[in-house]
Amino acid sequence: MTSPLTLEGRVAYVTGSTRGIGNAIARALAAQGAAVVVNGRTSESAVAAMADELRREHGTECIGIFADQRDPGAISGAYRHIFATYGRLDVLVNNAGILDDALLGMIRESAILETFETNTLAVLRNMQAAVRLMRRGGAGSIINIASIIGVMGNPGEALYGGSKAAVIGITKSAAKELAPIGIRVNAIAPGFIDTDLTRAMPPTRFDERLASVGMGRIGRPEDVANVALFLASDLSTYVTGQVIGVDGSMVV
Ligand code: NAD
Repeated sequence: MTSPLTLEGRVAYVTGSTRGIGNAIARALAAQGAAVVVNGRTSESAVAAMADELRREHGTECIGIFADQRDPGAISGAYRHIFATYGRLDVLVNNAGILDDALLGMIRESAILETFETNTLAVLRNMQAAVRLMRRGGAGSIINIASIIGVMGNPGEALYGGSKAAVIGITKSAAKELAPIGIRVNAIAPGFIDTDLTRAMPPTRFDERLASVGMGRIGRPEDVANVALFLASDLSTYVTGQVIGVDGSMVV
């Protein structure tokens, strides 16, 4: 019997997938047979190398797209590339994101623009382009990586929290709009996950955040990837508009 987790024959695009949570998600989807489109913005060769590695490990037709998610032209170019290569898209994971903490009075104008362009506007723009492809197939799963900070807030994170709360609002309205055409839209709200993003925090902030995790450990990128895999697969065909926390009890 075929496993309901299988993604064989499906195409999945994961933004910001050369490291961290996005990388774990790309690996989990490829391991289930998906052709994964890897994305990054820092090095064209790193994106290509990641796609090659997935292709070798899992025998799936993965490709790399070098594109900055702040650039609307680069976003639409990625979908032209995906359509030319596969003619379809089944799963979009809006993962690329940045964290730029500052108290309200210290937030730079450039940080406001960069954070919202990366964390929020890119999510909307990718969804617009992805839906055009998904509607052709009559199905699709969009997974937006939000954050618990967008749910519960935190001092010094008005900018990041606002950008992620907006992602939750986008997710819920889009889920209602797209349900009749078979496209599901869900968000994952990770808590405190061990990646370069959290390792860049000042040590006192890192320790405080760790102390607030009831399970007593920092999350692994794979903890988030497992939930993304569930949402990408046919195990979740009746699940849409949800915000699923992956936080070891930080928000209950
Ligand atoms: P990370 O910094 O390790 O990875 C983020 C990835 O996004 C990187 O590969 C980076 O290059 C890419 N990226 C950033 N801006 C981009 C752009 N303009 N264009 C293309 N790619 C871009 O961070 P992570 O912890 O893996 O975070 C992944 C997602 O999870 C982010 O949206 C983040 O906000 C969210 N998140 C993380 C945590 C955590 O504790 N690590 C908690 C909640 C939410």
